[in-house]
Amino acid sequence: MRQPWRVAVVGGGIAGLAAAVRLRDRAPAGTEITVYEQSGALGGKLRTGELAGQPVEFGAESFLMRDPAGAESAAVALARRLGLAEKIVHPTVGQAALVVDGGLRPIPGGTLVGVPGDLDRVTSVARPLAGADTDGGRPLVGPDADVSVGALVRSRFGDEVVERLVDPMLGGVYAGRADDLSLVTTMPALARTARVEHTLTGAVRAAQAAAPRAPGAPVFGTLLGGLSTLIEAAVTASGATVRRDAAVRELTPTDTGWRLTVGPTRDPELVDVDAVVLAVPARPAARLLAGPAPVAAAGVGELDYASVALVTLAVPQPQLPELSGFLVPSTEGLLIKAATFFTTKWGHLRRPDGVALVRASVGRYGEEAHLQRPDADLAATVHRELSAVLGTPLPAPVDGHVQRWGGALPQYAPGHADRVAAARTALRAAHPTLVLAGAGYDGVGIPVCVRSGETAAEEIVTALGGSAR
Ligand SMILES: Cc1cc2nc3c(=O)[nH]c(=O)nc-3n(C[C@H](O)[C@H](O)[C@H](O)COP(=O)(O)OP(=O)(O)OC[C@H]3O[C@@H](n4cnc5c(N)ncnc54)[C@H](O)[C@@H]3O)c2cc1C
Repeated sequence: MRQPWRVAVVGGGIAGLAAAVRLRDRAPAGTEITVYEQSGALGGKLRTGELAGQPVEFGAESFLMRDPAGAESAAVALARRLGLAEKIVHPTVGQAALVVDGGLRPIPGGTLVGVPGDLDRVTSVARPLAGADTDGGRPLVGPDADVSVGALVRSRFGDEVVERLVDPMLGGVYAGRADDLSLVTTMPALARTARVEHTLTGAVRAAQAAAPRAPGAPVFGTLLGGLSTLIEAAVTASGATVRRDAAVRELTPTDTGWRLTVGPTRDPELVDVDAVVLAVPARPAARLLAGPAPVAAAGVGELDYASVALVTLAVPQPQLPELSGFLVPSTEGLLIKAATFFTTKWGHLRRPDGVALVRASVGRYGEEAHLQRPDADLAATVHRELSAVLGTPLPAPVDGHVQRWGGALPQYAPGHADRVAAARTALRAAHPTLVLAGAGYDGVGIPVCVRSGETAAEEIVTALGGSAR
């Protein structure tokens, strides 16, 4: 193998940057790492902006502190690796609400993404189907099977638990519907126990017992100064050369690795490298793989995406309840699907002038037409709906921001994990120095994407001949 190694990371989101850091840690000293990012900014869905003179997240807001097995999450481990552990802060208010019949009701505790382990605890918001969650003498889900979350929960707990609890919770993360989303990819811990347990309440309890949480231990964390500090620190630690406004348009195998075609069609740049971490969403990945790895391209290209817009308003002295925010079932007929009271939820964001930052997420899968409306129209609708849900007129905002995320949230259909596994197997057999990473394959969320990037980096190190450290 030529020394030093040259590795391209395509995609400057959190998966690509976590891969770059892991490459720096595991590849031989002197390895040349270059991150190619098509836009003008690194971070992908992590973007800290500014509103009313204060840093605010215009994309992802926080990360899970623990992984599904109860260990420290990969996001926390990365923050530690980057010297940012001291900057992790937790919500000061954790309780959120659900909109039911136009008003706010606290989200019941003890559920797994809305799926209850004890039906009596959710009756304040939904009436579970009586007597359906019986032991049929075999596991809920077959050993290699995947089902939609909605199908499983409807059959055991009835429609109302799906519509009032699971759908809004999953919708808050994926902007999609429980009936369309894969159990294996969106709720891996429950998928594991559903392959053993005979009832759904039993499977939820077993998943919760597998990842016990110390009383009072925080579920979420974010970083003082914003999540973009994670991106900046990762770039520094990786020592990577960063190329912004540098879309990779083609990947061609060579005798020793890969040739990248970078930049505009009229003035392309050709770059030769030994290996590539492909950390872009599934659609652009499928286009890049179509030539060198058509089977893999077909597998990953099946993934569909939802679009959302995040509307953040800075509101002077509003009367807000002591809640972190609320989720809205689609049956309520509102445009808002979730709202976060930033300055209530995060103590470090509270302001002496009493201006509150409220962020609403709008857009559900299949309802993209609403997002065609102008920013001012979306902001006015959000303001009106917030006032209605809170039961009191919200003061006029002093500042606002609309961030559109087109095609940003993967809609993992049942069987997604198998399709990705098959694509990776095909890719590994034909091209072991090209590895996929990120949310298009391994699931949504900062910890999952960090782990995905790190795993990809380790595969590259193995493929190029093992670690020199
Ligand atoms: C609105 C929103 C809110 C979210 N909130 C949270 C949250 O609070 N907590 C949480 O854990 N997760 C959250 N998520 C999910 C999480 O942010 C994502 O799963 C994760 O950031 C995806 O990282 P990634 O690196 O896989 O992809 P991306 O962030 O999509 O990065 C991929 C990068 O590749 C670039 N790219 C694409 N094609 C090319 C090309 N041909 N050449 C070069 N570059 C290219 C893109 O420009 C992009 O920068 C949220 C997601 C969204 C959309």
